[in-house]
Amino acid sequence: MSRIQLLSDTLASQVAAGEVIERPASVVKELVENSLDAQARSIEVMIRRGGISLIRVTDDGVGMDRDDALLCLERHATSKIRSAADLATVETLGFRGEALPSIASVARFRLTTREKEAVAGSEIIVSGGKIETVRDGGEAPGTQVEVRSLFYNLPARRKFLRSENTETRNIEHQLYLQAFAHPEVAYSFVRDDKVVFQLPATRTLRDRIRDLLGNELLARLIEVEPAPHGKVVVSGFIGQAGVSRASRTQQFVFVNGRAIESALLGAALKEGYHTALMKGQYPVTFLFLRIAPAEVDVNVHPAKREVRFRDPNGVREAVVASIRRTLSSDRESWQEQFRAPASESVVAAAPSRPVFPVPNDAEQTRLPVEIAPPSPGDDFQPNEQRAPAGKHEFRILGILNKLYVLMENAEGLVLVDQHAAHERILFEELRRRIEAKGVPSQRLLLPQIIELAPRDAEWLERNLGTLRKMGLGVEEFGRQSFKLESLPPFLSGADPARLLQDVIDGLKSASRAASPARLGEEMIAKTVCRHAVKANDYLRNAEVEKLIRDLLDCELPYCCPHGRPTMIQISLGELEKKFGRKV
Ligand code: ADP
Ligand code: MG
Repeated sequence: MSRIQLLSDTLASQVAAGEVIERPASVVKELVENSLDAQARSIEVMIRRGGISLIRVTDDGVGMDRDDALLCLERHATSKIRSAADLATVETLGFRGEALPSIASVARFRLTTREKEAVAGSEIIVSGGKIETVRDGGEAPGTQVEVRSLFYNLPARRKFLRSENTETRNIEHQLYLQAFAHPEVAYSFVRDDKVVFQLPATRTLRDRIRDLLGNELLARLIEVEPAPHGKVVVSGFIGQAGVSRASRTQQFVFVNGRAIESALLGAALKEGYHTALMKGQYPVTFLFLRIAPAEVDVNVHPAKREVRFRDPNGVREAVVASIRRTLSSDRESWQEQFRAPASESVVAAAPSRPVFPVPNDAEQTRLPVEIAPPSPGDDFQPNEQRAPAGKHEFRILGILNKLYVLMENAEGLVLVDQHAAHERILFEELRRRIEAKGVPSQRLLLPQIIELAPRDAEWLERNLGTLRKMGLGVEEFGRQSFKLESLPPFLSGADPARLLQDVIDGLKSASRAASPARLGEEMIAKTVCRHAVKANDYLRNAEVEKLIRDLLDCELPYCCPHGRPTMIQISLGELEKKFGRKV
């Protein structure tokens, strides 16, 4: 007896469904995409019990006639492509003709549909892949698909479903993606008979973001000017430097209107935000890439969540460049708010000490407030007559806990982390110099001989050039020994052996991901951090003022090279709320 058998159509569909339909959110994705492909202007999604008991998607799109309504349930039945050549230029979201038969094979399925001009529509009921009823249905023009008891006939699959709440969240995320991809379409989402959101059709992405996520987030987003980079046009909105989330939930990326997940683009976003986000944080993005359909293969993932680019590097560079440009253009408007102070407005007078002393590891005293010594009879409001009037002025009030510079501007209170601020300043200064002509290097009075482990020695040999650019004059000196002859002046106080080992470790761990230029930057950021003003270093007036001025001149003044914020603004409004003056 032969051992090979053809699978029945139903079984084949169930197998195929396993790839396309993983969970309720996949059903929602496929149905909403069908509605969008059918030119719907308005899409209603209704679910019960996390979509496990019911998903209903209703649209006002073009609908189907009776023949098509029957045909659409066949596997590989699609109106969207005809030939292999079409695959290269496909602009619809669907094209495989797989979704509806897959869904119908793993649920109780009901389709009602009517074309605009048709006298009657059709209603088709399918259970576990078998057509049970076909009849006239007099519904409104458009299409409605109802999916009940998902995976009722696939207990194994059903077991993999998560809690109703989790499945609901997945569905909601899916709807967010669709809603951002198509602001011109109205969406409503009803969960267990409660309206979760009702989004009017809008003209712009900006309106859609506001409607869905609120003005507060919108105020912290920057628009990406849609300039072409090679073959790619990037547009949308991205969070200001420092606006971040602990997960990727608000990292939305679309390629030709299709929401996608992509390690490549994820890495590009990270690179674009380099030094503008804390480690382990993710940017908030609503980024849209336009690219010729022939430049991207959308047929590589069963749920079409991933795509393959013909020129991945080009795409990557386009994204990185757009983000960089957008972040630095945002800087100008930011500086408007924090224009450098007129020098006579500085009133802080901390005990005098050298400007940027080398690390001072004296234990940190926990004085609650370290405010400038007040002039007699001027207890609470030093120089109150000089409170900043203009939007662009501020004055320094004092130093808190030897770390935070307290300032007042027209909007309220500003706190500056002097350590983070100094890091940012040094970082940019050094990067500029490296780009221009390399870091200056100062000869050591006594060159240091340093022994390294064999692997480190080998690595160092290959990277002496990079180190020289960073101002570290190192030469080979025997098999595993090196002679350190010069250092950048700002590092002269450091322990050369420790420093060199740090640099090697740092560069080695960074080198897998990044370009040589980036290596240098990464390293500078790290070294600078260790040698920047420490929390409990006193700064004199003039030094504080210079620090703030220099910070404002930075390219990305609002965060340190590790992405921590350098400044926090607490508005008068917030203070009023906290003091119960305003509700
Ligand atoms: P695909 O979207 O890949 O073509 P589907 O199985 O999702 O495959 O749908 C099959 C076909 O059914 C589509 O090509 C389309 O012609 C038709 N169809 C599906 N949903 C709708 C809808 N909401 N409105 C109009 N036509 C639809
Ligand atoms: Mg489809």
